[in-house]
Amino acid sequence: MEITDILIHTVTIPLITPFKTALRTVTEIENILVTVTTDSQLVGYGGAAPTAVITGDTLGSIMGGIEHIRANIVGMSLENPEPVFQTLNNCLVGNTSAKAAVDMALYDIIAKSLKVPLYRLLGGKAHEIETDITISLDTPEKMVAETLDKLKGGYQILKIKVGSDPELDIERLQAVQDAAGPEMKIRIDANQGWSAKEAVAVGRELQSRKLNIELMEQPVKARDFIGMKYVRDHLDMPVMADESVFSPQDALELVNMQAVDGLNIKLMKCGGIYNALKIAAIAETAGIPCMVGSMMESHVSVAAAAHFAVSRAIVKRFDLDAPLFCSKNPAVGGISYQGRSVIIPNEPGLGITAFRKSGK
Ligand code: MG
Repeated sequence: MEITDILIHTVTIPLITPFKTALRTVTEIENILVTVTTDSQLVGYGGAAPTAVITGDTLGSIMGGIEHIRANIVGMSLENPEPVFQTLNNCLVGNTSAKAAVDMALYDIIAKSLKVPLYRLLGGKAHEIETDITISLDTPEKMVAETLDKLKGGYQILKIKVGSDPELDIERLQAVQDAAGPEMKIRIDANQGWSAKEAVAVGRELQSRKLNIELMEQPVKARDFIGMKYVRDHLDMPVMADESVFSPQDALELVNMQAVDGLNIKLMKCGGIYNALKIAAIAETAGIPCMVGSMMESHVSVAAAAHFAVSRAIVKRFDLDAPLFCSKNPAVGGISYQGRSVIIPNEPGLGITAFRKSGK
């Protein structure tokens, strides 16, 4: 099972509705698709999406990163996977999106060689999970309109993007809660948009208004671990790290500082399943529940995230709605959606059998 090549191509996917956060507005995504080939005829599929403002990875840097990984792992055998994953992770610093694309294709091959779905190889059982649905940052009126539209899909948890202005953010959240009803659970994601003190003030105001807030995600700047801890210590509401936790080292540091109540694991940040498993192990040891999320990615890489998500008991929450924004699915097979349910197929590997030529 020797790796013979890594093929790269790109696909542009227009979004059905624009995706807006405190960091960016996106109307279409560029997806990098990789095919890893072996001398045993087994083929692995993977994908990555550039999110320059979060990972620092661009379309060009991801393609260049994959070329570099290719030069280092072609010729290695997946009969003995550990040295392959070690090489993949150690042959270049950073470049987590490029690493993730190749990592998931390698896991796809290993699971296919054992004729089991990837989640089973990783130890998982369930194959259907419930995702939340994201409401983009906008005026309160537009966010209410989007909420009412999205609720037709039967979602029970909303992820609300805020983080532009604390006063207006409170108005946005109140308006959405009023529109969705008091039972609707809300995950707040400020995408680093507040100071620690602003985050505490917003959180307290939301609690005094009795909004149904499940958690507050990434209130402060990514590297402001002290700020994260301040928010956690001053607010009676779970605080979750997203942009603060890329690597297992970040997870270890946040856990040791007791700075967070939760970690949002994304393959594009940590470099794939190999490192995601390490983060989950750190979190489980510390008793910190995890969410598995994604960047604005297509069905290909989100399939890998879903397989990983159902494999760990410490993963309690799922934020895998990105493909629902995509106007086309570049994969044949793989995950599918029924309302808020993500259906993970029982086929070997990721369940993907090919990439669509037309991307329909
Ligand atoms: Mg986030």
